[in-house]
Amino acid sequence: MDYHPIRKLEFELPQAICRHHCLFCANYGGQPTEPPLTREESVALVEDFAEMGGEVLVVTGGEPLECPFAYEIMRCAHRRGLSVVLYSAGYLVDEAAADALALVPVEKVYITILGEEETHDRITGSRGSYSRGLSAISLLSRRRIAVGINFIPMKPNYAEWRRVFSAVQAAGAQEFRLTELMPQGRAWENRALLELDTAEYRFLLEDIAGRPLELGRVAAHTLNGRHLLRLPRRAVALPAAHVFRRPDRHHRHARGIRHPVPGGKNQAWEQEA
Ligand code: SF4
Repeated sequence: MDYHPIRKLEFELPQAICRHHCLFCANYGGQPTEPPLTREESVALVEDFAEMGGEVLVVTGGEPLECPFAYEIMRCAHRRGLSVVLYSAGYLVDEAAADALALVPVEKVYITILGEEETHDRITGSRGSYSRGLSAISLLSRRRIAVGINFIPMKPNYAEWRRVFSAVQAAGAQEFRLTELMPQGRAWENRALLELDTAEYRFLLEDIAGRPLELGRVAAHTLNGRHLLRLPRRAVALPAAHVFRRPDRHHRHARGIRHPVPGGKNQAWEQEA
């Protein structure tokens, strides 16, 4: 049997329950598993991954910085030769946290910014989340940590993408990444409110391209395809200690789920397994 080592592991840290209530959250703000992985088990998982030939540890949640041993996990990954990438809402990134992340060191931090201030705060359900997100970008980039932005185009925000681009660029972000809405979890429940129709999708793509486009099947994949395909061997570790091979185009598989429940990602990946 061929052996394909996992190169990239997305680790949803235990006890990483997010304080935001995003309308589109596929993961209901993080999964409260009982019992969650312990500190020792989490470190062992990272060590195993490194030993198996892993290269990149992507630290996610919920909000991964809520995990009481998030920094220990990241430091362990770095000591073991892994690149560390963090996905965060940014609300816990103050001066001290930015210093600690620079010390790990974290190679890249992705912060989710979802619109201008009023729109962003409405989507996250958390007043002040926009200014905390922008502050995180600027604190991290001042410490020379590369910062990327996840912008998920949805009905309430797609027309604002250009102004968001300017704001995050001014704050120091180096990458503006468009991520497709995954109709799962709350995004499934709020699909009618959020999901772009064909005309809106066309407007967005043509606005980005600055010209009319021939839109066929390909257009639907150009937003995010390159990111998803960059590393073909990917896996996901969940707080309950399940590790799944991650489908390269997870949103396609997620669409097959009719009644997602909290923990819906497990369902998607179990179906895939
Ligand atoms: S910030 Fe992320 S984890 Fe938190 S609720 Fe929003 S989408 Fe979910």
